[in-house]
Amino acid sequence: MSDISDSKKCPGCNTPTERSCAPNLCQPCYICSVKKRIVYQFCWSCLQEWKGPSPKSDCCSNKDCMIRGALLSGNIDTPGSSVKGCPRFRVCPGCNALLTHTNNGCRNIHCPACGRSMCYRCLADPSCKNCTIQDNSSTLKRLGQS
Ligand SMILES: [Zn+2]
Ligand SMILES: [Zn+2]
Ligand SMILES: [Zn+2]
Ligand SMILES: [Zn+2]
Repeated sequence: MSDISDSKKCPGCNTPTERSCAPNLCQPCYICSVKKRIVYQFCWSCLQEWKGPSPKSDCCSNKDCMIRGALLSGNIDTPGSSVKGCPRFRVCPGCNALLTHTNNGCRNIHCPACGRSMCYRCLADPSCKNCTIQDNSSTLKRLGQS
């Protein structure tokens, strides 16, 4: 299989890992298991160390599993879309609500939860000019700190 979504980096050692756990989400890492001398498993969805009962085919017990899983779920590849290349999901910088773009119309979106307008590409004010697409890494970092 050449689908790149079938290879992800282990959050413990950063080694690209082939998914061996489908349909379950708890993916074992041999390298980390040896290093930490425990059975190390990480969550294929949120890419954090696995928490809670396993095996399991939906969210692990990390509190932000679902939202991180959404943020890591790939990019919009709709041809001609104003937001092509952007992540499928965003988190509102104002209220942390999960947002998506309809693929129709311009790059700007409104958060239905707090009413904030933003550019879907750079998450800044809609008045931005020639902006570049920001990935979700800073959002993930911010969520990790809360
Ligand atoms: Zn590892
Ligand atoms: Zn998870
Ligand atoms: Zn909002
Ligand atoms: Zn922008």
